[in-house]
Amino acid sequence: MTGTETLERTSGKAKVEHFDVLIVGAGISGVGAAYHLQTQTPNKSFVVLDAFETFGGTWHTHKYPGIRSDSDLYTFGYRFKPWTGAPIATAEEIKNYMNEVIEENHLDKHIRYKHKIVKANWSNKDNLWAVEAIRTDTNETFHFTANFLWMCQGYYKHEKGYTPEWKGIDKFKGQIVHPQTWPEDLDYKGKRVVVIGSGATAATVVPAIAGDCEHVTMLQRSPTYFIPGLNQNELADTLRQLEVDEEWIHEIVRRKILFDQAEITRLSFEQPEFLKQELLAGVSALLPEGYDVKKHFTPSYRPWRQRIAFVPNGDIFEGIKAGKASVVTDEIDTFTEDGIKLKSGDELKADIIVTATGFDLCVMGDITFSIDDKPLDFADTVTYRGMMFTGVPNLIWVFGYFRASWTLRVDLLGDFVTRLLKHMDEKHAKKVMVSLRPEDMDMPLMPWMDPENFNPGYLMRSMHLLPKRGDKPEWQHTQDYWAERSEIPKIDLDGAEFKYE
Ligand SMILES: Cc1cc2nc3c(=O)[nH]c(=O)nc-3n(C[C@H](O)[C@H](O)[C@H](O)COP(=O)(O)OP(=O)(O)OC[C@H]3O[C@@H](n4cnc5c(N)ncnc54)[C@H](O)[C@@H]3O)c2cc1C
Repeated sequence: MTGTETLERTSGKAKVEHFDVLIVGAGISGVGAAYHLQTQTPNKSFVVLDAFETFGGTWHTHKYPGIRSDSDLYTFGYRFKPWTGAPIATAEEIKNYMNEVIEENHLDKHIRYKHKIVKANWSNKDNLWAVEAIRTDTNETFHFTANFLWMCQGYYKHEKGYTPEWKGIDKFKGQIVHPQTWPEDLDYKGKRVVVIGSGATAATVVPAIAGDCEHVTMLQRSPTYFIPGLNQNELADTLRQLEVDEEWIHEIVRRKILFDQAEITRLSFEQPEFLKQELLAGVSALLPEGYDVKKHFTPSYRPWRQRIAFVPNGDIFEGIKAGKASVVTDEIDTFTEDGIKLKSGDELKADIIVTATGFDLCVMGDITFSIDDKPLDFADTVTYRGMMFTGVPNLIWVFGYFRASWTLRVDLLGDFVTRLLKHMDEKHAKKVMVSLRPEDMDMPLMPWMDPENFNPGYLMRSMHLLPKRGDKPEWQHTQDYWAERSEIPKIDLDGAEFKYE
């Protein structure tokens, strides 16, 4: 008996469960999708599958010291559930908030954990997705069918982070740790720690461990923009003093934050030099006299081309001032037995090296996709507004914003998908697909994201795996929340780009 025969027989006998909608992932996107589906289309049956043993996604995976959001929770929280705490929240606080959303809306009965989806095949004959999931604890295979797939699987591999291949890495006698797989029992007390990286993760880990280490050094190839500020929102505090309802506070504070962020984004394009100087002045004010801000905190790119990291209470600068933390801007030549030799010739001694060097991109949850059993490569498709893909029926991907909170798009797309599902029902359509219109045929096709717009390492390394973008707003993820919040609700579902059957 061949392996194929075994599989066919097993799946022949297997129970197949059907749902109108199958949501992939129970992170902030999947839980938001479930809420919108249940609230806006209560007649639809649905299931949420997640490979983990619990909800939270990103906020479950990351357990490094200090793990926190870098967006404010008034906008990273859902629009329908007021945030009542300090703007920057720990992973634990975000999970508690999500737990309340799940409990208050009885979403738990729809979520199945430890279900890793491995295959999804669309059948044009049945107008259904056939989805195969494996129980991560028992290895059992489960089969589902669904009319619609709502992809909320995030954008990076959760199993392990990205570590570049450095020369001599095997020689190092100490411990090498990636923040994404931080060992719970890591003992850094009294140790010399080097954190490689300059983004939000490095800026979180460094102050969180500085008090306990002998010394912690942030080693960066190039600096990042930081915005230091108090972890409080004055407007929210005032409105609370005035005993305004939390629902109102949530909405008003969201609007104010989004208004201010729009201004920063506008400045980053129209007056980048002015914004740069403002950001650098904020950082300089917190550093010791004579500190080399130009070398260590002045990026070479214009603000917002990579995420600007918010530093609550300026904690990393406190560590530098206290002499417990330092920043070295240099390049790694080679790892040595007891640290890192730099291209400048200097050496950094270390007992522990933390590689805060980012993620590996994961396209569509590493699921093997096919259409009528023919392999589907998303890189061969063109994206419709960063959420649908030409030639791929009944599927939406929730890919949030970088310059604004991810979750803003979860709510926007929640409205869009439920409107689309209702529209399909009105038309008695079983299938919806986007395709290029005649006027789009000559449109140049380019990689998913314009590096001039946004260019973090994990995107640059893996752009070839992502769908293509065109040069019109409909055919790309513009990353522009401020335009999309009025454009997406107005999308004409009977426009020429939508095809129904
Ligand atoms: C450390 C860190 C901090 C961040 N901070 C912010 C911030 O402050 N603000 C902001 O806007 N963004 C932030 N981001 C970006 C962040 O990832 C998103 O904001 C958001 O949490 C993503 O949510 P998600 O639900 O789309 O994906 P994820 O959180 O990645 O969750 C995806 C879920 O899908 C599941 N899944 C994936 N593939 C499969 C499969 N094949 N089968 C079954 N289940 C699957 C995973 O198990 C996971 O639970 C941060 C990212 C990181 C890593």
